[in-house]
Amino acid sequence: ASRSIASFQEHIVTSHRILALLGAGLSAPSGLPTFRGAGGLWRTYGVKQLATPAAFKEDPALVWTFFLDRIKAAREATPNKAHDALAELARRKDGFLTISMNIDGLSGRVNHPPSRIYYLHGNLFDVKCSRCNIFLRDTDAKAVTEPLHRLSGGISIQALNVPHCPSCEVGLLRPAVFWFTEALDSNTLRSIHSWIEEKPSIDTMLVIGTSAEVYPATAYIEAARKKGARVAVVNIEQEDPGLFALEEQDWYLQGDAAQVIPEMLKPVIGELPS
Ligand code: NAD
Repeated sequence: ASRSIASFQEHIVTSHRILALLGAGLSAPSGLPTFRGAGGLWRTYGVKQLATPAAFKEDPALVWTFFLDRIKAAREATPNKAHDALAELARRKDGFLTISMNIDGLSGRVNHPPSRIYYLHGNLFDVKCSRCNIFLRDTDAKAVTEPLHRLSGGISIQALNVPHCPSCEVGLLRPAVFWFTEALDSNTLRSIHSWIEEKPSIDTMLVIGTSAEVYPATAYIEAARKKGARVAVVNIEQEDPGLFALEEQDWYLQGDAAQVIPEMLKPVIGELPS
């Protein structure tokens, strides 16, 4: 794979159909930890002990405490130049679709056109019932999480404070993100699939700040490749970890997403306001 930003820039100018897959590394420059960089509860318990339906069943207060911490961090974080650059690309290129695995809401805060991005793993700020189908967003979700933030006082919440569903009154409310072992939203998967299949080719597949270990991330890279896409990986690791099966016509662009993304897209989006 090439390491030349210049040759990528030549290619992106003439690309019409572009697919991007975004991972936690995109928000790392905004101060939000990736799995690997994470501390606190995350390190003590391990993500797989906290972000699963089984963990919630076992200890819903612990899982809520962990997610309240994530919500607070995401709320206090500021989107970075890479979020800006990708939103600008979406405004300039009609054929650009983004699949975000991030749940932090940062792309939304730079007004990434909502019809041009799918949030594969949900949104930290939404709440749903673990039993019935009720789904709360915006002010309704806030009405649930705000009192919890006050109760937790940055420490932890107790079992008796875990909120119950206002509709069925039996189920416990939980963050509306997709946890390990859970099926993703079938409408979202279907829409992404239609976009991939609706035209004979895809020119470029951007893979940004993800270890692409979580299914279906790798499947999207393969699907784009089958449609002829050249793959460009942006990652802070010095060496390509070998997870993307990069080929000669692809790119491995090493560096901090907040610096590399605005640079590689510059011929299309111009200079971002500082
Ligand atoms: P991951 O932690 O497995 O991988 C992150 C990748 O980003 C690594 O390959 C790392 O080398 C790279 N990286 C770190 N800092 C970077 C930077 N500044 N610039 C470019 N690359 C950088 O994350 P994943 O592959 O996204 O999978 C983890 C799952 O958990 C996903 O669903 C993910 O979105 C979710 N998660 C989300 C957030 C968030 O919403 N901010 C944070 C942590 C985890």
